[in-house]
Amino acid sequence: MSDDQITKRMGKLLRQGAALLNTACPQCNTPLLRLKDGSMYCAKCDREIVEQKIPQTIADQRMVSGDILTQLASKALASLEILTQSLPEKPHKEEIRAFASTAKELIEILRGIQELQSR
Ligand SMILES: [Zn+2]
Repeated sequence: MSDDQITKRMGKLLRQGAALLNTACPQCNTPLLRLKDGSMYCAKCDREIVEQKIPQTIADQRMVSGDILTQLASKALASLEILTQSLPEKPHKEEIRAFASTAKELIEILRGIQELQSR
């Protein structure tokens, strides 16, 4: 799955009420989402993550997720830039719609990251 698809999936889940966790996936280091049913989910691995496999110490978690969040934020920003640049001068309705929804998802992710980092 491409980064773009992962970003989109995360954006969709965030809109549905999932929360971005300050914990990364033990498999791929992608920030995990807490779904509405309380389970933890990795958008990249596309699977539920069992709590025991998460790094135990708070120090570890902060170190890992700090980096991950910064990486994710820069990827989301880069995607937003590419998206903006790829929009033609006189876009069609469909292009505007696609642009708006993807941009919204990316902005939601950035907002989520900001929230976590301001804690
Ligand atoms: Zn993963």
